[in-house]
Amino acid sequence: MSSTEHQPHTPPADGVHKVLIIGSGPAGWTAAIYAARAQLQPVVYEGVAKQDPGPVLPGGQLMLTTEVENYPGFPHGVTGPKMMDDFKAQAARFGTGIVSEDILSCDFSKRPFVMTTSRDGKTASGQVKAHSVIISTGAVANWIGLENEMRLARSGGGVSACAVCDGALPAFRNQDLAVVGGGDTAMEEATYLTKFAKTVYIIHRRDSLRASKIMQDRFLSRPNAKVLWNKVVVDVLGEHVISGLVLEDTVTKARSELPVKGLFVAIGHTPATRFLKGSGIEFDESGYVLLKNRNSYTNIPGVFAGGDVADAHYRQAVTAAGMGCVAALDAERWLAANNVH
Ligand code: NAP
Repeated sequence: MSSTEHQPHTPPADGVHKVLIIGSGPAGWTAAIYAARAQLQPVVYEGVAKQDPGPVLPGGQLMLTTEVENYPGFPHGVTGPKMMDDFKAQAARFGTGIVSEDILSCDFSKRPFVMTTSRDGKTASGQVKAHSVIISTGAVANWIGLENEMRLARSGGGVSACAVCDGALPAFRNQDLAVVGGGDTAMEEATYLTKFAKTVYIIHRRDSLRASKIMQDRFLSRPNAKVLWNKVVVDVLGEHVISGLVLEDTVTKARSELPVKGLFVAIGHTPATRFLKGSGIEFDESGYVLLKNRNSYTNIPGVFAGGDVADAHYRQAVTAAGMGCVAALDAERWLAANNVH
C-alpha cells in the first residue's frame, strides 16, 4: 500500500473514537501501530498537502528528505518517503483507520473531545469525537522562502534543512558548503559538516551570533570554518543541483556570488500547533507542546503528545517514533484507568 492509498475508514458505531491521532510522521504512525495492536482501533488524521509557507505533506518532514541513513535497521539507507509509506502500511495492517483530512481545531473542554475537520486544510468540513487524542503534528523547518531554494530542496538538489540527516551524503564530501543561520542549530549543523566538507560557511544576517558561546567556539575552532557576516541569501543557483548562492550584504546592499555544493538552512523550526490555539493545551516558551515529566502527558488528561511537536531538542525520526510509542502506551493505560474499553 502506498502513502496515497488506504482502505476507506469506518467510524466507530457510537461515533466516538478511543484514540484519535493527529499527524502522520514517525510519531503518529508509531502511535497508531501500538494503539492498533492494543485493539484500540485508532484513527489517524494524516493531514492534507499545503504550503505553510514551505511545503507541508502527509508524512511530515521525512517526505522532504532524500536518503535516511541514521534510522537503525536500514543498513543501506532508505528514502524518507519510502520509510513513511512503510510506517503507514504497517499501521494500516493492524487496522488503523486513516483519514486524509486536517484537524482545524480541538475542543478539549468537552468529553468526549470534539475536533473540527477539514478536507482542504482551510475550511471546516465536519466534526469528529474521541475519548483520547495523540498530538503528533511535528514541527516545520523554517525556510528562507526563495523559489529556487524550495525547488532544489524538493528535488534533492543539495538544499536541505537538516545537516544531520543529509550532510554525510557523498555529494557533500570535500565540497564547499553553506549553512544559513546564527543560532545553536546552525552551529551544530555547521560543526557536523566540517567533518566532511572542504569549507563550511556560516551565512548570518548580523555581525554577531545568537548561538551559545560554547557552540560558537566548537564551530569556529575548526580549521575549515568560515563566517560571512551581515549577509543574506537572495538566490540559489543551479538547475538540477545547487552550484552557488547569490548573497546580499545587509549593510552595503552589495551582491556577490558564493560557489557552494550544498545549502543547509538552519533558521529555526515552527511547531505545527496552530490548530491547538484556544484548546487549553500548554506550550513551552518556544511554542512546543509542554509535556509533564518524561512521558507524553500534556496538561489536559486524555490528551497526549509525541514527536517534534513536543521536542525542540532532538528532532530525529527515531526519537519521534519512540515518543509516538510512549504516547500510545500512555493513552492505553489512561483509557483503561478511565474505564474506556
Ligand atoms: P534560533 O535560536 O531561533 O536561531 C535562528 C537563527 O536563524 C538566528 O540566528 C536568526 O537570526 C536566524 N534567522 C531567522 N530567520 C532568518 C531568516 N529569515 N533569514 C536569515 N536568518 C534567519 O533557532 P535554533 O538555532 O534552531 O535554536 C532553537 C532552540 O533550540 C534554541 O533555544 C537553541 O538553544 C536550542 N538548540 C540547542 C542545541 C544544543 O544545545 N545542542 C542545539 C540546537 C538548538 P538572528 O540571530 O538575527 O535573529
